[in-house]
Amino acid sequence: MKNIKIIYLFPILLFLILTNKDYILLGNEIKIINIKEDIENKPSIKNEEDIDLKYLIGKFNYKIDPNFTLVDNKFCREQMKLRIYLRKEVYIKFKEMHADALKSGVNLLIYSGTRNFDEQKSIWERKWELNFNKLKDSVKTAKKILLFSSMPCTSRHHWGTDLDLINLNNNYFETGQGLKEYKWLKENGSKFGFCQVYDDKSITKRTGYELEKWHWSYMPTSSKFLIQYIKKVNYNNINNFKGHHLASNKEINMIDNFVKGINSTCD
Ligand SMILES: [Zn+2]
Repeated sequence: MKNIKIIYLFPILLFLILTNKDYILLGNEIKIINIKEDIENKPSIKNEEDIDLKYLIGKFNYKIDPNFTLVDNKFCREQMKLRIYLRKEVYIKFKEMHADALKSGVNLLIYSGTRNFDEQKSIWERKWELNFNKLKDSVKTAKKILLFSSMPCTSRHHWGTDLDLINLNNNYFETGQGLKEYKWLKENGSKFGFCQVYDDKSITKRTGYELEKWHWSYMPTSSKFLIQYIKKVNYNNINNFKGHHLASNKEINMIDNFVKGINSTCD
């Protein structure tokens, strides 16, 4: 009887080996396992994982990407309800951080999460019109916008790993409840993987954007995306918006000065 089963299983096993399927033997049964699907269902990414160029520059639809999820209204600022998406692993850690902060009287509401290329383009071009009309100079216009806003294709918000929390004004975080919230984040954010990537560059001497006390990045994923970005993205990929040719201007140098210009203690 046992020999008959082995003879019966042999051609099936041969087929699985030849077709490169993954399987496990359970007694007399063969179970085919889908390793690829198992990896896709795991939200974290591996160091060596290859990330698509289009993802890195925000040219994808995060609303239908299986790695992303819609954030519950209760974590969002009033005006941002039903619109904030994050990568799943970022959302899990954010919720843990939010619950922990609440115990100290700090409510970490999200102002902004993922923004794709088209959304960043509409922010950029609105600011371009406003500033170019006053400055009449494209380099000055780009530099003015770049104090706090990214060029499309270069924003960390494309990745679903970065969050703007509570208030988009540094002054808010200097006194009262705002100071309490900022102190809590500085002391506790790293326990959950979050780091303030745009720290005070007058002290730390990094390049790029001004201080942003509200912008926090989930480093276990974003540090891997940054490595991929530096490897794959060049100035030819930064295109299709007003002033895109300025990305490589020597006074701007988007990739070296801005994309790489983050808090060196975040990793
Ligand atoms: Zn931000």
